[in-house]
Amino acid sequence: MNQTSERNKTRSSPLIDQFDRQISYLRISVTDRCDLRCIYCMSEDIEFVPRSQLLTLEELYRVGKNFVDLGVSKIRITGGEPLTRRNVMQLFEQLGTLQGLKDFTLTTNGTLLKRYAPALKAAGVTRINISLDTLRADRFHAITRKGDIQRTLEGIDAALEADFDRVKINAVILKHHNHDEITDLVRFAQDRGMDISFIEEMPLGYVGDHDRAAVYYSSDQILLDLQKHYELTATTENSGGPARYYRINGSPHRVGFISPHSHNFCDHCNRVRLTAEGRLLLCLGQEHSVDLRRVVRAHPMDDEPLQQAIIDSMQIKPKGHEFDLSTKPIIFRHMNATGG
Ligand code: SAM
Ligand code: SF4
Repeated sequence: MNQTSERNKTRSSPLIDQFDRQISYLRISVTDRCDLRCIYCMSEDIEFVPRSQLLTLEELYRVGKNFVDLGVSKIRITGGEPLTRRNVMQLFEQLGTLQGLKDFTLTTNGTLLKRYAPALKAAGVTRINISLDTLRADRFHAITRKGDIQRTLEGIDAALEADFDRVKINAVILKHHNHDEITDLVRFAQDRGMDISFIEEMPLGYVGDHDRAAVYYSSDQILLDLQKHYELTATTENSGGPARYYRINGSPHRVGFISPHSHNFCDHCNRVRLTAEGRLLLCLGQEHSVDLRRVVRAHPMDDEPLQQAIIDSMQIKPKGHEFDLSTKPIIFRHMNATGG
């Protein structure tokens, strides 16, 4: 038996970083491409990675499987828009068979969910996050630079019909773009039995003439806005992630806040991210990374070097991000490349 397998036998999870954080969650970006161009995510004329540089679906599965073998119990598929990748259902079906995978989730803009929701449920996807920043068609078109809100709304209906364990709305709130829709978005989610999370915009990559500091709208401000209309109670539930959750007027559904600026969440970070080119990012807001594509391709028939590279990567996971809206982005990667 090789060294890595020995080690895996004697430790429940070798994925513990130098700050004693256990890594149990992998996000996989299956493509950096997207059918939308959200103003906070990418510039209109963004250049995508040539398809030839992407990991194949088989390679993505292999990396995912090895993470699960090393103790990861949660995988989120993201992008770019993951459902635009050709034959992506093949990857969902394969990952869905992994015994150690307890939570199998997807983040999507919803435009293709009408077509794929039943197949995703059948493949074992447990929960879906759908991005929706506004309920107004004209604003949706402006924020996404091209989108038709109807397709996302139909996607939400399809996801609810497919009966996932949870469907959640993600909304990035920007001053003067959609900050006046916070209560409407909460009502929309609650009426349909969904949770909703509000996300503070993060300074990832250059996104055209969009001024991030000028449109910053803090989670605390969103909370204050909501408290004018609702009674909110902080929950003690911990998703193991960066979100802080509240319940509204005793409703079973939650309102979450992901606040990289106002409430740093790095101390409890349990996740790493794989880009579509096979770069393992140890932190959303830093550039520390390991090229797993090189390892996968150098050892097509032997998983030990891949597992060792994953284990070794724990040593370079940084303590936390250093996002600062008052300076130019220090991270040139866009959110679509990172896998948000
Ligand atoms: N295309 C899918 C979607 O929009 O849900 C999945 C990928 S997208 C990059 C994942 C999440 O990141 C979305 O909820 C999106 O709103 C969020 N996002 C994108 N750029 C962001 C940024 N600069 N700051 C904060 N959130 C961002
Ligand atoms: Fe596409 Fe999602 Fe980025 Fe919007 S946030 S441009 S939908 S990847």
